[in-house]
Amino acid sequence: MKVLVAVKRVVDYNVAIRIKPDHSGIDTDSLKMSMNPFDEIAVEQAVQWKEQDFVQEVIAVSIGPKACQDTLRTAMAMGADRSVLVETDIQTQPLAVAKLLKAVIDTEQPDVILLGKQAIDDDANETGQMLAALLGWPQGTFVSEAEPCGTCIRVTREIDGGLETLDLPLPCIITTDLRLNEPRYATLPNLMKAKKKPIHVTTPDELKIDITPRLTVLKVEPPLPRAHGTIVSSVSELVDKLKNEAKVL
Ligand code: AMP
Repeated sequence: MKVLVAVKRVVDYNVAIRIKPDHSGIDTDSLKMSMNPFDEIAVEQAVQWKEQDFVQEVIAVSIGPKACQDTLRTAMAMGADRSVLVETDIQTQPLAVAKLLKAVIDTEQPDVILLGKQAIDDDANETGQMLAALLGWPQGTFVSEAEPCGTCIRVTREIDGGLETLDLPLPCIITTDLRLNEPRYATLPNLMKAKKKPIHVTTPDELKIDITPRLTVLKVEPPLPRAHGTIVSSVSELVDKLKNEAKVL
């Protein structure tokens, strides 16, 4: 069994982001970048399967600038065996990412593809679903449990009002939710060891994929600052404020 894990380099979730003065996007200059948290969960799942002998090889794939090599090294320090970097300085949108991943998958022929349910920078929650459509493979999205069951993987998905259990025949696509596992840290010794693991670098041109953006970002705005809260002294005062100030009753 071979597993391919898609890992995106994003602004670290602890960092307070700044909007560019011209409102065209986020100013990422000199910000700490890390692996997308849902992708860490995906790597952890693949590595756990390897430790359980369900999987023989784990390949991490990232699409983006040269610096994505750091993200791939982290994935390999967590336990991935090797990596593929599709290097581009163009900001890729989910459809382009899905097409590039498909091109890598056509060569690598993995049995399972693990992705995060969403990237915390664009919050798109699209890539896994688009990839499943392009490949025509079964998919389990928002997965909080995943167990091998013979020739399939039994997944539990978080859906409105409860949990759904599905058996996904292989090959399949899984996108990870927060509760799937707690990812291990990439320790310094393992980061050092990961330097010896191979990263194959390719490009969208080599893969013959057109990644021209199809969506145009018109404007990026910070959320409105929250109004000050007040402490009310009685229920009737609260009801009065809800009716006459907030006008929600
Ligand atoms: P999104 O659809 O943008 O919210 O991303 C969902 C998932 O797709 C992420 O958690 C990653 O697993 C994968 N993904 C998105 N963009 C990239 C990228 N540039 N490189 C590698 N994986 C990506």
